[in-house]
Amino acid sequence: MKIEMQHLTKQFGAFTALKELSLEVQSGELLALLGPSGCGKTTLLRILAGLEFADRGTIRFDGEDATSKDVRARKVGFVFQHYALFRHMTVFENVAFGLRVRPRALRPPREVLQNKVRELLRLVKLEEMAMRYPSQLSGGQRQRIALARALAVEPRVLLLDEPFGALDAKVRQELRRWLRRLHDEIHITSVFVTHDQEEALEVADRIVVMNAGRIEQIGASEEVYHHPATPFVYNFLGNVNLFRGRIEDDRIHIGDMEMALPDGAQRDAESATVYVRPHMLDLAHRPSSQSHFRARVKHINAAGPIVKVELLAEPGDLVHVEISQERFRALQLQRELEVFVIPKDKPTSTSS
Ligand code: ATP
Repeated sequence: MKIEMQHLTKQFGAFTALKELSLEVQSGELLALLGPSGCGKTTLLRILAGLEFADRGTIRFDGEDATSKDVRARKVGFVFQHYALFRHMTVFENVAFGLRVRPRALRPPREVLQNKVRELLRLVKLEEMAMRYPSQLSGGQRQRIALARALAVEPRVLLLDEPFGALDAKVRQELRRWLRRLHDEIHITSVFVTHDQEEALEVADRIVVMNAGRIEQIGASEEVYHHPATPFVYNFLGNVNLFRGRIEDDRIHIGDMEMALPDGAQRDAESATVYVRPHMLDLAHRPSSQSHFRARVKHINAAGPIVKVELLAEPGDLVHVEISQERFRALQLQRELEVFVIPKDKPTSTSS
C-alpha cells in the first residue's frame, strides 16, 4: 500500500514537533526514519498509525484520505521497543490474540486460525516455541513474536518503533538481517524508526534523515551516505572530519593540505568547511608533494577489520583516519609518532 503524507505539522503547546513534512512511502518498501532523539520520528509514526493526529496536513493510504481515520480503520500493525506480550498467554495464544478478539463473523474457524498461527511462527522461525510463555524467551525471540502478532491480523502497513532498541548489540545485528530477509519474503509496506544509522543503512530500502521536525534528505543507503545533501546528514551518518579552509583557484587550502572543491561547492566563497570521511584520508611517513598536513598519533584502535587512528593535527584539531590492517602494519604506527595525513580524493561536501 502506498502512503502519501503532505504538509504534516504537529505542535505540542508552543513546541513544533513536525514542520510541514511531506513524504511518500512506496507500496511494499521498507522505509527507515532516522534522526537524533527528539527529531519527531515517533510523532510521525504515531500520526501514521492514527494514534496521534496532525494539526495540519493530510495522509492518504492508496490514494484514499485517511487523515482523520482512527487506528482501527487504518489497519496498521505495530511493533514497539517494549512490546508487552501477554505474560499469562503462550506464544501461540499471543500470536492468535488479534484473530480471536475479532467480531464473531470475522473470526477465522479454529483450523484456519491454527494454521495461520503456525505459518506465522514458521515465518519468524519460532515454531518449536509455540507452547512457551514470554518469560521463557530471550529478548530477541520476544520481539520476533511481537512481529508475528502484529502480522497476524494482516495489516496493510507495518510500523516499527525502535523494535530492537532494548536488545544487545549482537542480537540487534542478527535481528536486523532477519528483518530484512523477512521483508523480502512478505513485502509489506513498512516504516521503521531508528536513531541507529548502521541499522537504517543495513535494513532499509530508503532512508529518511530527519532533524528538528523536518526532512533533511531521502534516499537509498549509498546515496545518503556517499552524497549527503546537508552538513547535518554528513555528520549524522558516520564519523566525519571537519576542516575549515580558504578557497583559491577552485581548490580548497587547509594549511599545507589542498584538495579539489567538491561538486556543487560554492566557488565564489572565500572560505568553506569541508567534510572528509576517515577512510578518505591516508597516513604516510613522508609528506605528499601535493597535499598533506602533519599530525601526531594519539590513539589507535586496531580491533576489527579497519584500524581507527586518532591524531592531533598541528593547529590542534583532532583528526580521525581509518586504514586497513595491512597499511597499519606497513606503517608500524605507534602512539606519539609524527606522521603526515594525506587526502585520497576530493571531499564530497562543503558548506560556506
Ligand atoms: P526518540 O528517538 O528520543 O524517541 P523521536 O525523534 O522519536 O525521539 P518524538 O518522540 O517524536 O521524537 O518527539 C519529538 C519532540 O516532541 C520531542 O521534543 C518531544 O519531547 C516532543 N513531544 C512528543 N510527544 C509529546 C507530547 N505528548 N507532549 C509534549 N511534547 C511531546
